[in-house]
Amino acid sequence: MIRVLSIASECAPLVKTGGLADVAGALPAALGAIGVEMVTLLPGYPQVLAACEGTGTGVLEEDDLWGGPARVLRCRAAGLDLLVLDAPHLFDRPGNIYLGPDGRDWPDNPMRFAALCRVAARIGAEGAGGWMPHILHLHDWQAGLTPLYLGARSARASVGTVLTIHNIAFQGLAPAALRADLGLPEAGFDVEGYEYFGQISALKAGIVYADRLTTVSPTYARELTTPEFGMGLDGVLRSRAQKLRGILNGIDTGSWNPATDPALVAPYKTPRGKGRNKAALRAEFALPAASGPLCVLISRLTEQKGIDLLLQAVPRLLARGGQLALLGSGGAEIETVVRDAAAVMPGFAARIGYDEALSHRMVAGADAILVPSRFEPCGLTQMFGLRYGALPLVALTGGLADTVIDANPAALRAGVATGVQVHPLTVGALADAFDRLCDLYASDHWPVLQRNAMRQEVGWQASARDYAELYAECLPDHG
Ligand code: ADP
Repeated sequence: MIRVLSIASECAPLVKTGGLADVAGALPAALGAIGVEMVTLLPGYPQVLAACEGTGTGVLEEDDLWGGPARVLRCRAAGLDLLVLDAPHLFDRPGNIYLGPDGRDWPDNPMRFAALCRVAARIGAEGAGGWMPHILHLHDWQAGLTPLYLGARSARASVGTVLTIHNIAFQGLAPAALRADLGLPEAGFDVEGYEYFGQISALKAGIVYADRLTTVSPTYARELTTPEFGMGLDGVLRSRAQKLRGILNGIDTGSWNPATDPALVAPYKTPRGKGRNKAALRAEFALPAASGPLCVLISRLTEQKGIDLLLQAVPRLLARGGQLALLGSGGAEIETVVRDAAAVMPGFAARIGYDEALSHRMVAGADAILVPSRFEPCGLTQMFGLRYGALPLVALTGGLADTVIDANPAALRAGVATGVQVHPLTVGALADAFDRLCDLYASDHWPVLQRNAMRQEVGWQASARDYAELYAECLPDHG
């Protein structure tokens, strides 16, 4: 049996700020079902330690992990096998796991996550409590320095390393002067190694030194090697393109199941069952009955998500009798733009905040779900939409391109369409896409699209097999 240590800075349901947590939380069970054992190394944030309370046993100790003692606990929580890095001076803090009360990164973030990497490398080399991984699976920049620490231990030959890039926008830059404090090698601090324009780049370290690279959709894997999407790392990714593979994320089809979802007013198995949920959703957002499609959008409100463009195109949707209910939170500026637009556009209602249960009710009640992202490594909400028969209207980028089949004439004739894709992502193209959506909604195609959508395979099964295959390829004795 292949043993994998997954190194993640967040993991659902224990601690989550985005899609990375969903992936880290779902993979262990999906892999377990096909005979791969995955243990997850997590920082000992207060909520993680609380979940482990009473069940943890110490398996490793560090006398001084950059400013304080630390230990690693082995425990089980929320159905996950965990190794928890209990280092109070680094992780015992209230609030957001990455940001201080001022809304900025904790100043010692480079240290905090380098500590996670150093301990991951130690476990890769020595094991923990008798458990020895074959593979270290690194998630994003927070785990990116691990191969460097492994190198320092001359242990790189004994364990395989896989880095998954969930979002290239976050690169883990740190001042060069921290190298000594972090115990990073001199060798490699150059353009071919882990230096990025005079700084340490934890993500680049992972990209250069991990045995294999993945990202969360095949299209994003291709996009990452282009200047438009690579965010400065496209060159190094091109040089490692042979080792880079896109593996689509799945969704948790247990908690996202319209037939059993406890958040819904009326759980359902077929598109016809959406009616009561739609009426309830309209009531919840104080929207009247209308002739066009009820659209929803659930998102972090950041530049990436394209909400600014979308709002300029929404009048076309409303003019056709459609409606929009939006749930989101994020940057104060975009929140204000959303609030202001909702105040003056009848048929558009917005809720600012983060509300998991409401997000389920919205997908259940919606005719369509909108994802107009400028870039989207994989995206999860369009897959929730498919499973719940809310047709995705998406930008043609990243995982959105890989999970939705555009209702073009050929796909309609073949009976395989599941949504609408927009390209290029402009206000004009979005407005045209709304027209297309409304035309489809009024046509006989609509129920066919809904059935197609609900039949799509959006779970983890296929991708878990791809990961298992990848691990097998980079087993240490595989050469
Ligand atoms: P990203 O990781 O870039 O935020 P994804 O689509 O991959 O985008 O994942 C976002 C996840 O967060 C989804 O599960 C989505 O439903 C959830 N989400 C985002 N904003 C909210 C919100 N305001 N309320 C509830 N859930 C939200």
